[in-house]
Amino acid sequence: MDNPAPQFFYPNRMGRMILLGMEEVIGRNGVNAVLNLADLPEYINNIPPHNQDLTIPFETVSRLQNSLESAYGPRGGRGLALRTGRACFKYGLREFGPELGLTDLAFRLLPLATKLKVGSEALAGLFNRFTHQQVRIERDNSHIHWIIERCPLCWERHTNDVACHLAVGLLQESLYWVSGGKIFMVEETQCIARGDKTCTIMIDQNPLN
Ligand SMILES: [Zn+2]
Repeated sequence: MDNPAPQFFYPNRMGRMILLGMEEVIGRNGVNAVLNLADLPEYINNIPPHNQDLTIPFETVSRLQNSLESAYGPRGGRGLALRTGRACFKYGLREFGPELGLTDLAFRLLPLATKLKVGSEALAGLFNRFTHQQVRIERDNSHIHWIIERCPLCWERHTNDVACHLAVGLLQESLYWVSGGKIFMVEETQCIARGDKTCTIMIDQNPLN
């Protein structure tokens, strides 16, 4: 029997951001090989356009992650997904920066703790508003909890370990940029693919440098 029709989507420009980020890390041939392996030939040399149409099924996003691991091994795939996430950030900033308000001078002048709060909420709001990914934020004295309640990266995957490395890389790079060059500990501690209720990424609010 055929799979049921997909219900949740990323917009084209987010698919574009992921494929451009991946291309920066493994090259065009690498991306094409991963797309072949994921049985997604429609994107080969055909990156999604610059628009907000919700056409990229969550299943496509998770198949890309899965194929990255199949092609490069679990360890290699994990490292490449992290680097892809970091590389995605600059394309994301280009696509979404003005909407986020994070490129305004007023934002740049805020104190670090406020920037982390405002920046993380703006980023979560972007996912909630423009995509079917659901994110909520909790905070304690030391950490920001980035809680993904509906996650495209590990959509319908079953893994032994946490699997949403691209999100970790994206958050690391966002934090680096928001803080003007500081490095933060970012770690996925729960993952739906592993049987947890949410994909939760913990961000230590105190930078390492
Ligand atoms: Zn996930």
